[in-house]
Amino acid sequence: MQVSVLALNRHYVAVHVLPVQRAFSLLWKGSAEVVNVEQNQFLSYDFDGWREISQLKANLEERDDTDDWIRTVRFEIQVPRIVRLLRYDRVPRNVVKFSRRNIFLRDGHCCQYCDGRFPRHLLSLDHVVPRSRGGGDSWENVVCACLACNVRKGGRTPQEAGMALKSPPVRPKRNPLISHQLAQQKYASWGKFVWMSE
Ligand SMILES: [Zn+2]
Repeated sequence: MQVSVLALNRHYVAVHVLPVQRAFSLLWKGSAEVVNVEQNQFLSYDFDGWREISQLKANLEERDDTDDWIRTVRFEIQVPRIVRLLRYDRVPRNVVKFSRRNIFLRDGHCCQYCDGRFPRHLLSLDHVVPRSRGGGDSWENVVCACLACNVRKGGRTPQEAGMALKSPPVRPKRNPLISHQLAQQKYASWGKFVWMSE
């Protein structure tokens, strides 16, 4: 299931984005609790409490279209949007990992030259100043480009190729996955926490 769960540290500061399976395993072990936003209040639940609330919601057929659920043989449980790590005090250094995935997310899977949106297999990484000309691997020099634009640009700079960048590439301030998810209604509750971590 491709759903993310925002993890807060003990002091309610957003520190991480977890896959669902990892979030449930922490809940199950008692290392985390669910933080649920209900009528502008934050309510906490341990695994059993969350399971009961989920059951109640399922029985009353109060499920929201934006909710995600996991069905096991014996019960159904709603996927929480936020968990709090009960034994985690730290605030990790806010360094966003320089990776292909994060560059694609930063650029919204849009080619930075033609502004087209493409499926991942039609996208590539382009060095704005080509490697052969001393351009490095950095947030400021690597962008998402469609294969056609990448080939057209070749070993040239944008100026030489007459291909303008949509916007100057920058290092993202926060995990691009958080920004990406925040744009979706179902992750709206994250907005109450992520500003704290910036
Ligand atoms: Zn393009």
